[in-house]
Amino acid sequence: MIPVRGYAGAKVAVLGLGRSGLATARALVAGGAEALLWDDSPEARAKAEAEGFSLTDLGKHGAFDGVAALITSPGIPHLYPSPHKLIARAMEAGVPVDNDIGLFFRSFATQDWDGFDVAPKVVAVTGSNGKSTTTALITHILAEAGREVQMAGNIGRGVLDIDPAGDGGVVVLELSSYQTELARALTPDVAVFTNLSPDHLDRHGGMGGYFAAKRRLFAEGGPDRAVVGVDEGEGVFLANQLAGAAGDDRVIRISSGQKLEGFGWSVFARKGFLAEWRKGRQVAAIDLREVAGLPGAHNHQNACAAYAACRTLGLSPREIEGALRTFSGLPHRSQLVAERGGVKFVNDSKATNVDSAAKALQAFGRIRWIAGGMGKEGGIAGVQPFLGSVVKAYLIGHSARDFALQLGETPHEICETMERAVARAAAEAESGDVVLLAPAAASFDQYPNFEKRGEDFTARVKALPPV
Ligand code: ADP
Repeated sequence: MIPVRGYAGAKVAVLGLGRSGLATARALVAGGAEALLWDDSPEARAKAEAEGFSLTDLGKHGAFDGVAALITSPGIPHLYPSPHKLIARAMEAGVPVDNDIGLFFRSFATQDWDGFDVAPKVVAVTGSNGKSTTTALITHILAEAGREVQMAGNIGRGVLDIDPAGDGGVVVLELSSYQTELARALTPDVAVFTNLSPDHLDRHGGMGGYFAAKRRLFAEGGPDRAVVGVDEGEGVFLANQLAGAAGDDRVIRISSGQKLEGFGWSVFARKGFLAEWRKGRQVAAIDLREVAGLPGAHNHQNACAAYAACRTLGLSPREIEGALRTFSGLPHRSQLVAERGGVKFVNDSKATNVDSAAKALQAFGRIRWIAGGMGKEGGIAGVQPFLGSVVKAYLIGHSARDFALQLGETPHEICETMERAVARAAAEAESGDVVLLAPAAASFDQYPNFEKRGEDFTARVKALPPV
């Protein structure tokens, strides 16, 4: 645990008692603060009480009197579409609103570090897609290289739950836009921006607010090194603003698809090959085509981002190459779950938005596509250009009919449920086909979360009769 510093003897309110909220409460108490805990859900409150915490109804009159800060969880809106009433009340009372990430950055460094040979480092990863994969990949590469490494944030443990760093230790954080928008301290040593496409716009008041939230990770005086995906205009602009001159190697530009052979430092993937360029010369190349855990151009973008981050931490191209080959991928992201009669079944339940689903459609050949759920604004208009590889779509959930209307000439069938979609796709698939779950929609209409949706797909695939 990282005890929270700066609040000894002070009252700190915590709203949201999920995984990160409870870790925050423990870390506040360890740092000598008095934690006032609340959650709208009776189940979450019961869990906190079972751990021995007492609760404080933050809704009661005067609850924020004398409170030094309110720490909230990322799932709770603080501005758009409208602030949670308790956050609004804290703001009216002039109480600073922060989150566990802000507390972490103010509490992580300790005096022990004075005796270390190598100061611990924090790598923070943000972007619309590929955050978890890139975060897990960086962690894997560092671990394979024998480095002390811990992974936390939006993946794995809550940030305040990790162990204090040892000599030369590295912490790799996945940070969502909700987290970067609110944190009052954000000072990673290396910051990574994978890409940007529309998502969560309701929480950020549109695309400008969404980009602004992510950009806070790179604010003036920010990271020593910035790894920036330049496949969208926002990334080009960000990289340009961070670099002092054309040859400045504070910024490493990354791309999947573009050749970046300028004078700065860049890592890009084209046609399955990763190349590192520095000062106008190629310094390394890696064949990614045989890296089974990272299929498709989107994963090659993640490989570039992880490679670049690890290079800034002193790893050699050969060390990174070896570790890429042993990365097994994350569940629910382009995950091969079964092969049956020459047909591959791939679980990409995490493709909850159109961009990630479009990337999955580009990663495979003849696809029997299981899609649908709680569709987002615009439906699946964004995947139209990539429907060429879809032999047939099998539509499920709330948006099945809307998606069907947008599919036009592409063969499709409304299946409603995962059970039927898997059965129909398996029955019609021929050897060489890929049955791909990449919903382009959230899961909440039929499942508690995308993990449960992916598990259901996998279970139904495993239950298919043998061929
Ligand atoms: P995040 O943590 O940003 O949601 P994940 O690594 O969990 O990212 O991947 C989310 C979804 O996006 C998955 O469907 C995955 O296959 C897809 N994806 C992964 N990397 C990328 C990328 N670089 N660009 C676009 N889509 C990606």
